[in-house]
Amino acid sequence: MRVRIAPSPTGNLHIGTARTALFNWLFARKNTGQFLIRVEDTDKERSKPEFTENIFQGLKWLGINWDEAPILQSEKIHSHRKAIQKLLDTGLAYRCFATDSELEAMRLEQAQQGRAPRHDNRHRTLSPEQIQKFKEEGRSSVIRFKIEDSETIRWDDLIRGPMHWKGSDLGGDMVIARRAPSNEIGDPLYNLVVVIDDAEMRITHVIRGEDHIANTAKQLLLYKALGIPQPEFAHTPLILNPEGKKLSKRDGVTSINDFRTMGYLPEALSNYMALLGWSVPDGMEEIFSIEDAANVFDLGKVNKAGAKFDWDKLNWLNSQVIHQYSHKELLGHLLPLWGKYGWAIESEKWGIDLTELIGPSLTLLTDGVNEAKPFFEEPSLEDDGLKQLAQEGAKDSIKVLIQQLISTPWDGINKEAAKEILNETAKKSNCKKGLLMKSLRAALLGKMQGPDLLSSWGLLARVGKDRDRLNRCV
Ligand code: GLU
Repeated sequence: MRVRIAPSPTGNLHIGTARTALFNWLFARKNTGQFLIRVEDTDKERSKPEFTENIFQGLKWLGINWDEAPILQSEKIHSHRKAIQKLLDTGLAYRCFATDSELEAMRLEQAQQGRAPRHDNRHRTLSPEQIQKFKEEGRSSVIRFKIEDSETIRWDDLIRGPMHWKGSDLGGDMVIARRAPSNEIGDPLYNLVVVIDDAEMRITHVIRGEDHIANTAKQLLLYKALGIPQPEFAHTPLILNPEGKKLSKRDGVTSINDFRTMGYLPEALSNYMALLGWSVPDGMEEIFSIEDAANVFDLGKVNKAGAKFDWDKLNWLNSQVIHQYSHKELLGHLLPLWGKYGWAIESEKWGIDLTELIGPSLTLLTDGVNEAKPFFEEPSLEDDGLKQLAQEGAKDSIKVLIQQLISTPWDGINKEAAKEILNETAKKSNCKKGLLMKSLRAALLGKMQGPDLLSSWGLLARVGKDRDRLNRCV
């Protein structure tokens, strides 16, 4: 079994393309087949090498690897032209000399009569004299493939079951080569090109979005006309936004890069993408690696209905992945983010302890920036912190604590020792321990919400950052 994705490099890797890639990959892995990539780079103006690179990088990041060197569609144009010539030679395609203004007039008339727009196949049966006349006029032509209205196209879709499409609903004879001088074959167009490429790549199963269903009907006619065995087809449900519309750029984040920048992890995103339209077998947990999913993946378990994108679920999966990491692994992910702010850890041990402290509160990897900030930079005093320190006795308790630290050197050992120091201080200053602890939190972290106080203090003390913060409050 051989499957592929065929992205156009006209933008960064999109979540929809990535999900299609994942379903193809899961199918290939489950069936010990091959997963291939074809870069559909024939739109010369919009295709860019940096987008191709972004697509490759994004797939790799998600853990989706491919089995053969990617094919560039633009390098296959010779085969595309040959197929078009064959269709011309066998009379299954023909040159259409209609000018743009003639076509426009046709469309206008159809609109005025309230008819659906479709090509009227006006040049399908031109006489040799008429053809000669158009050529002498210097008219250019497109090449159209004949589509019989009476035809019914059928296939057994591996996700949607038996499908049929009427030839009369395909908009008339289909353009397969762009306009060009009438002795040439213009640029081959999508439906023709895909058929030739899939055949040359020996693709056995075409798994792609349901927005391609009408294309499949057209492509099946081309397979038949060219005498090429047709592959199986499976049309996956679209990814929808919370309002039930197709997820688009307007919904904010849609490229894999965006998810990455926001702090999602590849394991969580690929896990979530697998759940977008696929139901896990009974008894299987919803948290899994794509390797696990590949063992049980079945196109028959892919839903027909669109899959709503659920941020809460993705966030939950992301936090689960973060919590499954060892502190050392999580530190490995956080260090590059901290590095962007110039934050360096004093020692690996200190970094691991910090990660252990803040890890449980992270949903996104990027939350690890805000959470770690007070351990690298002196925090400003926020409203609730200021309020706390303004309480009666708060500053005095800090002053006593500073004194206590002079006589009991403390460089961040363990929580027990920290507790001891606080008990001593509370006793000496005659202040409540609660007040002292809250004031210490305000002094060290600038605000009242945050990680465990004694562990935080310990970490700050180990890098000599606690005294200054206490001193600045009094
Ligand atoms: N370039 C097309 C797309 O990105 C490929 C569709 C297909 O898989 O045939 O939608």
